[in-house]
Amino acid sequence: MTFNLDTFIKKYTLTIIAIVVIIFLGEIIYLQKLVNSGVVVSKDAVELHTSTIFMAGMTILAFTLFPLYFVNSKISTLWEKKLFNDYIEPVAYSIYMIRYASLMFLLILPVEFFGYIRDLYLHLTNQSLLRFLQIQILNFLMMWIIPAAITYVVVWIIRRHSKDWWKALSITTAVFIIFSNVLYPTAIEPLVSKVKPLDRPSYEASINEIFDKAKMKPVGIYVVEKSRDTNKLNAHMTGILGAQRVVLWDTIFNSLNKEEIISVIAHEIGHYKYGHIWINSFWAIGKLTLIYYLAFRIIQLEKTKKLLPEKDKPWLYARNIPIFLLCLQIALSVFIPLDNIISRNQERQADTYEVMLIEDSKWPISALNKVEMSNLSLPEYSNIYKVLFQTHPTTSERVELYKNILKPE
Ligand SMILES: [Zn+2]
Repeated sequence: MTFNLDTFIKKYTLTIIAIVVIIFLGEIIYLQKLVNSGVVVSKDAVELHTSTIFMAGMTILAFTLFPLYFVNSKISTLWEKKLFNDYIEPVAYSIYMIRYASLMFLLILPVEFFGYIRDLYLHLTNQSLLRFLQIQILNFLMMWIIPAAITYVVVWIIRRHSKDWWKALSITTAVFIIFSNVLYPTAIEPLVSKVKPLDRPSYEASINEIFDKAKMKPVGIYVVEKSRDTNKLNAHMTGILGAQRVVLWDTIFNSLNKEEIISVIAHEIGHYKYGHIWINSFWAIGKLTLIYYLAFRIIQLEKTKKLLPEKDKPWLYARNIPIFLLCLQIALSVFIPLDNIISRNQERQADTYEVMLIEDSKWPISALNKVEMSNLSLPEYSNIYKVLFQTHPTTSERVELYKNILKPE
């Protein structure tokens, strides 16, 4: 059987479009049913969910279809010829990557802008247009620096360790992931938003008390200025190897009382106590190592060699970069349902720990309700949405869990 590239691209395109359309229509039907079932659902939450699915669909289409068409375009060939004449190898690859990342950025920009207008309309943000543009420019610069640096290192490693590059690449990935986790709180997060230590003396005694109960050395509690960008409420735990901290979004002080905020901190301490950042880092390293190894084996197959352009040249060829990125994305997306199961389990662990520290489910429940209301969450989601997108259990599942933790046997 001979392989025809045009037929393949046509079939692939139709399959991707069909998947996206089916998921979108499925969600619309689900939302109709939910609204008709008598459950209280706000109009805003329905609009937010519909537009989120629409944006996700557009992003998936852009990321899965554009690379194939681009690789077969004249621009790609032209870039490659010129770059490899003018520069030494790793640099030529990096510049190719910068140009390609810029194209992807421009492709996604309208979706980002749609999301911005949507959030203004739903009062999820008061962000100024200037601030929106400032963040986009920052993202754009990141898309120049980070992919270019990664490409340089990857090309260098593959060239140097051509017999077993997957091993060297996996070790480099591990070092990169661990370092980013150490640097994130102090060097990366403050690039986008101001981060300050929590300056509320009245909170100190309660915070020390929960760290005592958790038998842990207290970590810093910080506040990040998110009110410029969103009205949503949230908090997160970041950092490893001495850089750990709990970061509260400044927006939560507008609607949560002190007891509720202490509950939120206790939840984040739960993530820390169970070592979730470490688990997630090792999980990411493991997944990537497996993908590198499979790619290494697949590239050696005779069949693959026939498929890659420029048969007489090595497979590491600039024009293959978009194809490798696409394959990496597809390989990573296979893990999404499992990633979400792991994440939902971690949230249950953190919720359980939260109630154990607070010794009451009243404040955790009222804090959760306020967070979910301000974030316009739906009371229930479709099964397909849960599998593909839900990193947290639904509000009703979490409330049920909170209530049951302290119940006498
Ligand atoms: Zn959590």
